[in-house]
Amino acid sequence: MRNRLLLTALALVLPLGQVFANAEKVDYQAVVDQAYAQFKDVDEGANADYIPILATVPSDMFGVVIVTRDGKVFSAGEMDYEFSIQSVSKPFTASLVMAQQGPAAVRTKIGVEPTGLPFNSKMALELYDARSVNPLVNAGAIAAVSLVDADSEADRWDQIHGNLNDYAGRELTVLEEVYTSEYEESWSNRAIANLLFNYGRLYSEPEQTLRVYTRQCSTGINTRDLGMMGATLANEGVNPATGKRVLDAAHVPELLAIMATAGFYDESGEWMYSAGLPAKTGVGGGIVAVVPGKFAIATFSPPLNEAGNSIRGMRAIRYIAGELGVGLYGPNAGE
Ligand code: GLU
Repeated sequence: MRNRLLLTALALVLPLGQVFANAEKVDYQAVVDQAYAQFKDVDEGANADYIPILATVPSDMFGVVIVTRDGKVFSAGEMDYEFSIQSVSKPFTASLVMAQQGPAAVRTKIGVEPTGLPFNSKMALELYDARSVNPLVNAGAIAAVSLVDADSEADRWDQIHGNLNDYAGRELTVLEEVYTSEYEESWSNRAIANLLFNYGRLYSEPEQTLRVYTRQCSTGINTRDLGMMGATLANEGVNPATGKRVLDAAHVPELLAIMATAGFYDESGEWMYSAGLPAKTGVGGGIVAVVPGKFAIATFSPPLNEAGNSIRGMRAIRYIAGELGVGLYGPNAGE
């Protein structure tokens, strides 16, 4: 009763929205600025070079952004440079498969187990009789591309591209030089596509699937786009900027669960231990992490560690998650 009287009195002097905003005031901009300042001079790791053109991306670029579920953007550093999305695209295409066929199809036709092996492992497919991997390693991601309901290669690409656009809230373009550089050197992914096909775990023609997968990975995004893509997941599947529903809210938890268990390849355990957030990394230097129901944190910085994860990005997100106390299971130490 007393609380209600107090609220009524406050509401008379302040607009009600402001009462609640003030009750939960978090200075996102200050935390983003601190993360940027603290890690921008870290000089460890190296750009990916197995896709030759990625080695030419300036290594010192660094961007950090928080995008809230209502579309507010708090950023520091590089926001405009378009880098290739690479593996950060994988959960979004898995989401398209979920939207078209339901989460059970992802479980039975691809798998949802973390492999504990590197992103491009062929051994993961050989180890388990069920050939079960998950959509966030190359094998599972190539299988996800093959599962998209499509009647031609062009249609498959249009759907995947349209879905990435819906998550970003704008029309994205393929970085053709990245595509060519990657497709010309795609021997490992070609082997994976053919192995999957051999085991009945690829659902469209291997070379076409490989081309569409490589286009998906070569799609250009900037740090802000990546934040918006994550914020769409934080906002239960609705893009905060465009208001478009991209994924049924009922499927968001399954998607985030795969990101939590497999988003960092063979470093996924280490990541959850230290940051406590579902996230996905890519060899282009991007990372997106999701605080369900609240916001996304995205970073861009090309130098990677041995597991293929962006070093400055990982540190910045851990720091932000620790400062804001948003680890899923309670505040992680961030170390
Ligand atoms: N396109 C890259 C590949 O297939 C993605 C790898 C990654 O970002 O981890 O090798």
